[in-house]
Amino acid sequence: MAEPADPAVAASSSVRHVALAAMPKAELHLHLDGSLRVETALELARTRNVDAPRDVESMRAALVAPMPCTSQAELLRAFDLPIALMQDAEALERITAELVETKAAENVRYVEIRWGPLLHVARGLSLVDGIAAVARGARDAATKTGTEVRLICTGLRSHDPAANVDLAEAASRFIDDGLTGWDLAGGEEQFPDPELHRSAFSAARAGGLRITLHAGEWGGAAQVRRALALDPERIAHGPGAIDDPELCAELIARGVTLDLAPSSNWQAGIVPSIAAHPLARLHRLGVSVTLSTDDTTVSDLSLTDEYERALDQIGLTPDELWAIDRHALDVAFADEPTLARLRAEFDAWRAVATLPGTTPPT
Ligand SMILES: [Zn+2]
Repeated sequence: MAEPADPAVAASSSVRHVALAAMPKAELHLHLDGSLRVETALELARTRNVDAPRDVESMRAALVAPMPCTSQAELLRAFDLPIALMQDAEALERITAELVETKAAENVRYVEIRWGPLLHVARGLSLVDGIAAVARGARDAATKTGTEVRLICTGLRSHDPAANVDLAEAASRFIDDGLTGWDLAGGEEQFPDPELHRSAFSAARAGGLRITLHAGEWGGAAQVRRALALDPERIAHGPGAIDDPELCAELIARGVTLDLAPSSNWQAGIVPSIAAHPLARLHRLGVSVTLSTDDTTVSDLSLTDEYERALDQIGLTPDELWAIDRHALDVAFADEPTLARLRAEFDAWRAVATLPGTTPPT
């Protein structure tokens, strides 16, 4: 984002950015493979002998998707290189730990990280060893940083339904290691019907996993309706719901949350600008929403940046931003004692803090 030319505006914007960074935050929609550090990618490319750029600038250009892309399909191509670099347990463990540390550094106190374990077995890693590596990285970094982490296992729309059933069953065995959710993601235009994977959802539910899925990165409100048929607690994206008042009413009545990511939606070409994103309108209608980055590296974005854009470009008030942030702790896929502790921590901060974006008392 361009710096404001007026030094006074620049100073106040920078003060607010610092305040937003200090605000305790919760992020529920974040992909591991979209959040690989550039320096780590360089090292992995060298040590794993992967055909990839060998200098920082070229690697950054390869990992960050065009802004905007022409479609979800173009955005998804940005994941090919990180996935090629994430094919062994050591890499997965390290990348997970580093992502938690990155988030902790901007005071994200609770984060749910999702990834598709079936994408990481191309070089012979077993499914179970891959999941275990991510769980280990998450646990160690959580201990080190104090940020609570939960993991969501993502099945791919393009994968064989039977393979996704096996994945859901394997994932369920890690429920005591912080893997608490099941998700479906991937190209919607090519694979629009999540119903194909109903058995995987059933297996995940039977294993105790909480249910979410991606919808509406293509196909608008109709895709959100299709997702609802799988009876999720939450839907990743789904901004097109705003075009269908009956659907919004159903989301409200059923208490289904949309885990929104405005910058990512703009990047994928779903909304013409971040300002046009319906985050604020959905929230004001009473739809349960949360705010996330989707991808730290692919979108070159911190959660602090995303919060700032929600204030500046989408027009949320600071109180609305706070309510959305705090609300994530009501719909998160974690145990109630953990969430109650986090709510108390967030509320204690709020009791003494001036909300970022408001004028501090003089
Ligand atoms: Zn996503």
